[in-house]
Amino acid sequence: MRRATPSSPQGAEDAAALPLVLRVSADPQIKEAPVLRQVLLSASRSPRLRHVVETAPLSKQVVARYVAGTTAADAVRVTGRLLGDGRTVSVDHLGEDTLDRTQAEGIRDAYTLVLKQLADAGLAHGAEVSVKLSAVGQALRGDGEKIAYDNAYQICDAAKAADTTVTLDMEDHTTTDSTLSILGDLRKDFPSAGAVLQAYLHRTEGDCLDLATEGSRVRLCKGAYFEPESVAYQSRQEVDRSYVRCLKILMSGAGYPMVATHDPRLIEIASSLAAQNRRVQGSYEYQMLYGVRPEEQRRLARIGEKVRVYVPYGDEWYGYLMRRLAERPANVAFFLRSLISKK
Ligand SMILES: Cc1cc2nc3c(=O)[nH]c(=O)nc-3n(C[C@H](O)[C@H](O)[C@H](O)COP(=O)(O)OP(=O)(O)OC[C@H]3O[C@@H](n4cnc5c(N)ncnc54)[C@H](O)[C@@H]3O)c2cc1C
Repeated sequence: MRRATPSSPQGAEDAAALPLVLRVSADPQIKEAPVLRQVLLSASRSPRLRHVVETAPLSKQVVARYVAGTTAADAVRVTGRLLGDGRTVSVDHLGEDTLDRTQAEGIRDAYTLVLKQLADAGLAHGAEVSVKLSAVGQALRGDGEKIAYDNAYQICDAAKAADTTVTLDMEDHTTTDSTLSILGDLRKDFPSAGAVLQAYLHRTEGDCLDLATEGSRVRLCKGAYFEPESVAYQSRQEVDRSYVRCLKILMSGAGYPMVATHDPRLIEIASSLAAQNRRVQGSYEYQMLYGVRPEEQRRLARIGEKVRVYVPYGDEWYGYLMRRLAERPANVAFFLRSLISKK
């Protein structure tokens, strides 16, 4: 039985609400610990640890920093607040690796519900949804790909009815071909459906070239999974260099680049590349995660850039939280302390 049900108090996205995180993040040794990153990414897939974490007296604060809440209403409320603040949103119903068809359909229905609620609240113009195909059936044995396609199709249809669109999140490298192939099929009827490419994969420059076409929305991120050397760059420098090469392709191409990073250097490079390629503001966008660098999100919005915040909600926050901790092991001390907290 899951116990921690995060609520997102006003202002929970502000790092100022979490002074302890800021204090421990000053330790560069913790910040750069690659072994810890590997452990956390493995932990994100461990059912045993998941049980321990979910049933611990977990401080609501840890989860609420990154997650809007558990219900569609929570996602709509946070979306309204971010839109009111000049940002746009991509809503993610948390869940992945669904191994049961009914559960996959439940996630599809959760998306159609949240899309309807966003439309009813008059917010859909500024809020799309992000969908993980593994959450809607891709990993099911047999006809998993077909089930994922059908469910994603219905979500795209609901998004179209709400006058917005969908982006397909990218998961580990074993799913890349399947996800890009399903995206290609969806784009025949929903051309605005967005792709995600991960700069840490060796293949991604080639995928950028393929997808930098007229009207093609492409989110470029570094990549959040634990990938082997055979398919992915391992060092930060190599990943960053690949990110820049990919960004050059996307910014000079005919598509719509979505620059998903919190990295100050890459944000600066993206802005120079946009200028070099004579892109006007709004012909590309910046994307960041809910709760990560909110002040930078506001700064970019203030100078007229389009900023989209990725807002996850739902009960299935465990894998998501572990990947966020792996990106910033400095937060782990805060997390561990919250595990033993009685509050
Ligand atoms: C909108 C969006 C969508 C994404 N979709 C996907 C996807 O579909 N598939 C996928 O594999 N990955 C996805 N990611 C995750 C991405 O791949 C990276 O793992 C993540 O963004 C961290 O990389 P970074 O570019 O921010 O750089 P990093 O080098 O990790 O961070 C740069 C700086 O940002 C700040 N920062 C970064 N993370 C945190 C944090 N958790 N807490 C506090 N500060 C932090 C720190 O100041 C850090 O020094 C997505 C990311 C975003 C922003």
